[in-house]
Amino acid sequence: MNFNRAVLKVGSALVAPTKTGCSGQYSLAIAQFITKCQQQGKEIILVSSGGIAAGRTLIHHGSPKLSIPMKKAMASVGQMQMMANWQRFFDTPCSQILITQDDLEDRERFISIKETIQIQLENGILPIVNENDTVTTEDLKVGDNDNLAALVAQVCEADSLFILSDIDGVFTKDPNVHDDAILIPKIDEITDEIYAMAGTSRNHLATGGMKTKIEAAEKATEHGINTYIVNGTKSEVFASLIRKINPGTQFSADKNIISAKKHWLKHTVKSQGRVTLDKGAVNAVLKKGASLLPVGIKSVAKKFDVGDCVDLIDHQTKTIIAKGITQYSHNELKRIKGKHSDDIENTLGHEEGDVVIHRDDMVILDQKPEVKPAQIVPKIVES
Ligand code: GLU
Repeated sequence: MNFNRAVLKVGSALVAPTKTGCSGQYSLAIAQFITKCQQQGKEIILVSSGGIAAGRTLIHHGSPKLSIPMKKAMASVGQMQMMANWQRFFDTPCSQILITQDDLEDRERFISIKETIQIQLENGILPIVNENDTVTTEDLKVGDNDNLAALVAQVCEADSLFILSDIDGVFTKDPNVHDDAILIPKIDEITDEIYAMAGTSRNHLATGGMKTKIEAAEKATEHGINTYIVNGTKSEVFASLIRKINPGTQFSADKNIISAKKHWLKHTVKSQGRVTLDKGAVNAVLKKGASLLPVGIKSVAKKFDVGDCVDLIDHQTKTIIAKGITQYSHNELKRIKGKHSDDIENTLGHEEGDVVIHRDDMVILDQKPEVKPAQIVPKIVES
């Protein structure tokens, strides 16, 4: 697993675990994970629930069963608390984006949200999205933040969606009831059987349950976005994610469509450098769907950093065959080019993985025919 632009959805159970306002119990580790991702050049958009849960103690309510107007009043006051809770864990600024279903359906508003998020990401700002609960009605609301996060992932052309909750992923049965329930690590196709495995929400302040998470996964994967359900209450989960290991359930992106990431790589990102490949690497990249290893690199040109996009050049034809996001800077690549992946750590003193560009972070470009030298046509001289 690998990602460059991800939406992280955090549920109320993590933002306000005691149901008496926000706390740092889980959000601190989540914020540290986000910061680490940002330091690695990844772009993160947070979809955070917790407005209602955070505002619950601030609005007098009689029964535990909350009316819709009560929830809206709580959401409005709780949103401030929730944002303040996030901001205290970041040195970089956070932004608040409140949206409704209607905003996402309207093309101009959709583009407006997309542009706002894009500019904020370019400026190192963490966009934090929630549903605008106070103004929504039944017709206007998405209804739950799992589905909202899937829609946001499409708006901002994310390559991955991480749904963080207090459960490890999708199980064959309800793990709270059945000891023999088994975690399903990977789901390639979302069928009725998968929906049947989904239990219901146990947290009365959150809107979604496993069902809405699977709905969200279905929406996102159809758009080429890999989706993961992971347990945000466990710190080891974040350690796994950093090591690119799936700690929960992964829903594979539909392979038949060009993923948002590849679309973004191909059409939006400008290359900062050039990496020339030997014959074996060209063959592996074009014919075997392989990642780029240091051993196949002949030369490196221009300055670039980790996380930058680079052009991959065929050393024989001198054409650009692909573009990709590099895991190593130009200086590092100059030192490891031509070497085996096992030698990376010895050469650099650290390693970011065996591959220079992972296959998921690479897009093959249309091969334009080589430009042949103009033919010399004999001049016909009129006599
Ligand atoms: N927008 C709701 C809130 O901030 C959360 C909805 C959900 O958890 O799905 O409380």
